Amino acid sequence: MNCHANKSIECTVHQCSHHCGSENYCSLDRILVGTHESDPTVDQCTDCMSFHRK
Ligand code: SF4
Repeated sequence: MNCHANKSIECTVHQCSHHCGSENYCSLDRILVGTHESDPTVDQCTDCMSFHRK
């Protein structure tokens, strides 16, 4: 797989089409992070809005 790992964006979500397989990095130049909560309090409240299922 030819994947350009962006060393500024670590990611472990292997199910995402932008994930770099064996390397735990995102291949995008930038991502958008958001939240599904009205008042986020912990990291689980945040989401990568650039996620795209493989
Ligand atoms: S788009 Fe988000 S979820 Fe997908 S590999 Fe990049 S950082 Fe991870």
